[in-house]
Amino acid sequence: MKLCVIAGDGIGQEVVPQAVRVLQQWLPALDCVTADAGWDTFQRTGQALPEATLAAARDCGAVIFGAVSSPAYPVPGYRSPIVQLRRALGCHANLRPTLSLPGCGAREGVDLLLVRENTEDLYIGEEQSDGETATAIKRITRSASRRVAETAFALAAADGRRRVTIVHKANIMPLTDGLFRDCAREVAAAYPQIAVDEMLVDTAALRLAQVPQAFDVILAPNLYGDILSDLAAAFGGGLGVAASLNLGAGIAIAEPVHGSAPDIAGRGIANPVASLLSLAMLLRRHWALPQQAAQLEAAVKHCLAEGLATPDLGGRSSTAAFCDAVLARLR
Ligand code: ATP
Repeated sequence: MKLCVIAGDGIGQEVVPQAVRVLQQWLPALDCVTADAGWDTFQRTGQALPEATLAAARDCGAVIFGAVSSPAYPVPGYRSPIVQLRRALGCHANLRPTLSLPGCGAREGVDLLLVRENTEDLYIGEEQSDGETATAIKRITRSASRRVAETAFALAAADGRRRVTIVHKANIMPLTDGLFRDCAREVAAAYPQIAVDEMLVDTAALRLAQVPQAFDVILAPNLYGDILSDLAAAFGGGLGVAASLNLGAGIAIAEPVHGSAPDIAGRGIANPVASLLSLAMLLRRHWALPQQAAQLEAAVKHCLAEGLATPDLGGRSSTAAFCDAVLARLR
């Protein structure tokens, strides 16, 4: 088992090494390779995602990516390394679970999985402007839509989930969102045991805010998935505990959802739960170690239930102390 560790910027430098320490001390067979990416790296080397980092990620096949700061103004030559990395490694699906965790102020009874298309839609970066009119291309392809739908239904079946909700806005964009919806429906036909429904994205946002417990699996194109998953994260205890996994063919990137949080960086108090739970997703989905994944999740939940928490959740624990407690529980 090899893991490429890209801590990135800000609190990524704190939560990722601590979470990886837990995994390494618990599973000594894990071989870790550290690699650079992000804004600091760009300022030092002129590259946000150096070729050596990409090579290390490919070689390991499994990556944990912390967080990167992005400048608030356009900087020539700087492109978001995580978007580049997902694309370069062919990670076509982004999996974002939301679970009611103890001690996090989470809404009761939420257990949903959002599967987001990861490679196209408005994220292809094809924008132009003459100063008066600005246009962005929204690209939806049959191949990417089918691929992410296949991932969503296969995961739903493997996890014993009962329903997939396809989110779109095909009443306004019948060709693009209509294609995404139709591809998902075609794939759904091979899974008669899983119920399928569809929802306009605005209705989905309202329903999610009102009754997040009503959702099981949500399948969404890139932009809607991005927005809805942050909304969903609010019900699971916030950004400090929101985990995700980017899945490709034989390759995966574990990625805590939060950013670099410059307001608390350098103080050793960032919440490592999002990183720990992202590593649990890597154990389950990429390394096919569901038992170890469940053990790690249970240890995190146990610590939270005992009242151990970093300040974002109202507690007084440091990043390192929380990870020590998780490790003690695992041993
Ligand atoms: P970036 O510019 O890199 O996106 P950001 O600070 O704008 O960073 P996030 O880091 O995603 O955005 O989160 C917003 C706020 O939520 C942070 O400023 C921080 O206060 C809080 N936060 C996010 N993640 C964590 C965490 N792991 N632990 C504690 N607080 C967190």
